[in-house]
Amino acid sequence: MNKTFISDSKGYYGQYGGAYIPEMLRENVESLRAVYYDIIESEEFKKEFSMLLTDYAGRPSPLFFAGRLSNKYGAKIYLKREDLNHTGSHKINNTIGQILLAKKMGKKRIIAETGAGQHGAATATVCALMGMECVVYMGELDMARQEPNVKRMEMLGASVVPATCGNKTLKDATNEALRDWICNPENTFYIIGSVVGPHPYPDLVTKFQSVISEELLSQLMAKEGTEDPDYIIACVGGGSNAAGIFYKYIDRKKVKLIGVEAAGKGVETDETAATITVGETGIIHGSKTLLMQNEDGQITEPYSISAGLDYPGVGPLHAWLAGTGRASYLNATDNEALDAAYELTRLEGIIPALESAHALAALGKLKLKPADIVVVNISGRGDKDMQAYANANR
Ligand SMILES: *Cc1c(COP(=O)(O)O)cnc(C)c1O
Repeated sequence: MNKTFISDSKGYYGQYGGAYIPEMLRENVESLRAVYYDIIESEEFKKEFSMLLTDYAGRPSPLFFAGRLSNKYGAKIYLKREDLNHTGSHKINNTIGQILLAKKMGKKRIIAETGAGQHGAATATVCALMGMECVVYMGELDMARQEPNVKRMEMLGASVVPATCGNKTLKDATNEALRDWICNPENTFYIIGSVVGPHPYPDLVTKFQSVISEELLSQLMAKEGTEDPDYIIACVGGGSNAAGIFYKYIDRKKVKLIGVEAAGKGVETDETAATITVGETGIIHGSKTLLMQNEDGQITEPYSISAGLDYPGVGPLHAWLAGTGRASYLNATDNEALDAAYELTRLEGIIPALESAHALAALGKLKLKPADIVVVNISGRGDKDMQAYANANR
């Protein structure tokens, strides 16, 4: 493993990362940190993980040459089809990994937080598969906004517990999940849904998602005779699908890595979720990273049309990649994302998730040349976003 681009032993990526947690959580986090590496690097774990990714999630996800989209932008554009995974996004890669780890640690009960319900549904899915008890914390407001996902989780056997404090959204659900974990340290494993939270979660989730770039190396070699594209583009909420498709390329300097954040109504407005563009260093959910805050250091409410990108922080790996200049971070507004979603749908017959549409919107912002090989990560499918697409009426 190349130590130059993963976190150090305390979970720092440069100045970002670490584990800034209340004393009451220290033992839970420490007991996970002490064992995770040896477990996930063991041959037995790797075999089981790989079997489930193949036979249950449906991996490898195809790498598709998008011919009509390529014509439009004047470059060779490939789509990494995470939308074809079981449950419809890349999130299943991580939940399979974490539930296997929970089992090996002898845990019997799983908790998770969810915003739009995508991570909650992916967690409820693997809990059903493994016969484990599942409790998902979700803001009361989000439960009302995302009812189909609440129903999905309940059908899968999970209890969905409303978070009724604060804004009744993701941040409040996360606080409830942490409180539960403090009260149930012995039997409970907390499955976090992105490359965020205290060390070791960012490292853990990045490693589980790195299967995306692992596959890309050989898929691109088979199609183009090289492992290295010119550009890799992925949307960034917390940053897990981007971390996964960047991972194997971080030390291949000639591959340009492009993350795309949600600008919402525009980065110059208050209604945005473009953390790297407008955020400053602070601490959120146990990690030192860039986050959206006011002059007093209070975390501000993010906004995006896309629920999966609507997070006020970003994983410490991305704060570091942005700071060192190894990756570039662009942003796309709600309207640009909607246009890009309609464009992909009409040109290729693929309805992307609204999150993934932000990555596609970056195609028009790059100066592409005909020989350029571009890979866009299609992190998920658009079924869940049909209402927003219908309202947009393009
Ligand atoms: C949750 C989600 C995202 C955002 O999460 P990351 O951790 O930034 O990848 C992106 N796309 C889809 C389809 C999602 O469900």
